[in-house]
Order: sequence, then C-alpha cells, then structure tokens
Amino acid sequence: LFRSVEMAPGDPILGLTEAYVADTRAEKVNLGVGIYYDEQGRIPLLDTVREVEQSLAAKGLPRGYIPIDGLPAYTKATQRLLFGADSSLLEAGRVATSQTIGGSGALRVGADLLKRVLPKAKIAISNPSWENHRVVFASAGFEVEDYRYYDPATHGLDFAGLLEDLGKLESGTVVLLHACCHNPTGVDLDTAQWKQVVELVKERQLLPFIDIAYQGFDQGTDADAQAIRLFADSGIEAFVVASSYSKSFSLYGERVGALSVVGASKEEAVRVQSMVKRVIRANYSSPSTHGGSLVAGVLGSDELRGRWEAELGAMRTRIHALRDGLVERLAAHGREFGFIREQAGMFSYSGLSKAQVDRLREEYAIYAIGTGRICVAALNQNNLDRVAAAVAAVTA
Ligand code: PMP
Repeated sequence: LFRSVEMAPGDPILGLTEAYVADTRAEKVNLGVGIYYDEQGRIPLLDTVREVEQSLAAKGLPRGYIPIDGLPAYTKATQRLLFGADSSLLEAGRVATSQTIGGSGALRVGADLLKRVLPKAKIAISNPSWENHRVVFASAGFEVEDYRYYDPATHGLDFAGLLEDLGKLESGTVVLLHACCHNPTGVDLDTAQWKQVVELVKERQLLPFIDIAYQGFDQGTDADAQAIRLFADSGIEAFVVASSYSKSFSLYGERVGALSVVGASKEEAVRVQSMVKRVIRANYSSPSTHGGSLVAGVLGSDELRGRWEAELGAMRTRIHALRDGLVERLAAHGREFGFIREQAGMFSYSGLSKAQVDRLREEYAIYAIGTGRICVAALNQNNLDRVAAAVAAVTA
C-alpha cells in the first residue's frame, strides 16, 4: 500500500536544530529556533503558571472532556485580552471564540471554516510569512497569493508595495495580517500604517484574518493588539483572529490558542460558533484541558493576571535589551545594524546572506536560518559578544 509513498521534505528549521544538537563544539549557539529562552538558555516556566498548576494538581480533578469550543473561562478571558475589556463588539456579543490546539489549530479551524463559507475565496499572505501559513491554507484548499511586505534594501517595510498589492486583490479575498512581531522579519506596521490598511481593507471589501502569536512581546498586551482594536472600531462587519499563548505564557507544548470570529450581530456569531464547532469536531473533537486551565487560572485572577503581565513585561524588556546589546556590539566592530533595534518581537531578518549564515555555522558554530532570520530571544549576555564578533567577521 505504501510502496509508492515518497519521503516528504523535512522541516528546514527542525533539520537545523538536529544539526545543532549533533554539533560537539561547546560554544555553539542556536539562533534558528522559534522559542523564547531566558538568560540561562532555558525555556522559562512562569511563576504564575507554576502556582496555578500546583493548585490544580492539589485538587486532583477528574479528566473528563471539555466542551468542543473549550473552557468558557478561557475563551472569555481570551476575548478580553484580544479585544479589550471594554470592547463594544464583546458587549454586543458579536465575537465567537473557541479554544484551539495552539495558534496553529486556530489557523486551521479558521481556514476550514472560511473554505465552507467562501468556497471560491483566495488568501493573500505577506512575503515572506511564517512558512506554515501557506501550508495550512493550501491544505485547507485555498489558493495562496502573496503581497509585498519586506524591503531588503531598508530591512524594513515595503509599505507602498503592500498597499499596491492589497489594492489589487479581488474583493472577498482573505488577507492574513500579523498583528505584531512579524514572523520571520520582525518588521511591523506603525499605527498610521495600520489605519491606512484598515481603510483599504474596508474599501476593497477584503476579509482580514489577523494572526497574533506574540501579544505582549513588543510593547504590551494592549499596544500589541492595536490592529485588532482598529479593525474592531472600523465598522467592518466580519473578521477573524487566530491567537496563541505559546509564547506569552511560555506554554509551547501545551498547545493553547484560540479562534475568534467577529460577525455582524450576536445572532450571526451564534450561528458561526455552531459551524466552528462542527469544524473542530471533524478535526480533533475537542481541545485539551491542561494548558487551557492554566491560562484561565492566571487570567481569571486579578492578582495573578497582574503578575503575569509583569512576567511577560520582563521577557519583552529583555528582548529589547538584547536587540540593543547586539546593535551596540556590532557598532563597536564598525558594523551598522541599527535596524535590528527597529524590528520587533523574537525575530529579526538580519540581512545576512545564505553564504554568511553557512559561514556562521561552519566556522563559528552559530546556527541561523538560511534566510538570515535570527531569534533574538536565543541571545544572552554570555553569547552576545561571540555572536557579534562572528557576524562582524562574516560581513567583513
Ligand atoms: N502564527 C505565527 C506567526 C507563529 O509564529 C506561530 C508559532 N511559531 C504560530 C502562529 C503558531 O503558534 P502555536 O505554536 O501556538 O501553534
């Protein structure tokens, strides 16, 4: 039966990590990852998460199924975090939110839902985008186009190209937008640019699909949700948000995400939710309990929520400091990388070429993605000097 099955291509990022693990050089550094590491090079376990986990363990609860669309305490808290506690859309009952298997599950459930509702619609994603965006939407049957986004000449946004490309999309096209901390480039829109995009999307009757996987990693939970808030205030009838707590709660393997679909009315949102539940049922039946309970436990207590915001704030502050540290050290070597300070979140398109990335790996045991993407959150005070010196050497 499986004789004709060909070997599927490996994931390039996971392949890089395998090579890193096999590397015996003690000074090795892996900047190819998509995870926030702390100063000790570990994935943090947040204190607030640990506390909720311990109190849950002490209760020894039974392990029944949770509802298809997740824990109500989780979805309610998620809505408030995304749309704001005083959101008029929430007040009007226009948002249908489901707990999903990570942000990836939200993307897939959202894609399947839209395929049912708009069978002929295409989707446009940024060039470049997180590789899985194309894969998920193509697997759900979408034709995937791209819109211009990154300008290698400035290491910043090609805003004119973005507007021109969005302006040419057929009405009804789904547009995938990264709310903040764009993966892989780290290049984001500012408030004025978001306002222009919201106007254009409205005028062209496009359907915004906002992916927010790094809320709180740049400026804070409210500021990083500005795209959602602007769309919410725009009068646009419908849009979709896929969100993830993998990074903001450091709960990667617990697979905690959510899909929020905004409809024109409460009644519409109720019907949409019934359809989302069918999609989930057909995919994986219901989400998992543990991660959702941890997030709901933290966000459901004012005291824990405040402390979580502080823990998240510490991760964000450290990322900014690492960006500054890298830029300053490179400047000391006579290299101008000031744009790394302007980019946001865990990732930076460093501008390093494939050949330079190969040299970093072969000569310096520093691993980065061939596109030049580096994970700033994998830097620390121990490896910054070495990384800066090596980058200076390969860019000589
Ligand atoms: N969207 C983007 C832009 C991401 O970078 C990621 C995670 N790397 C996800 C979605 C998916 O997140 P999760 O791990 O929660 O599935």
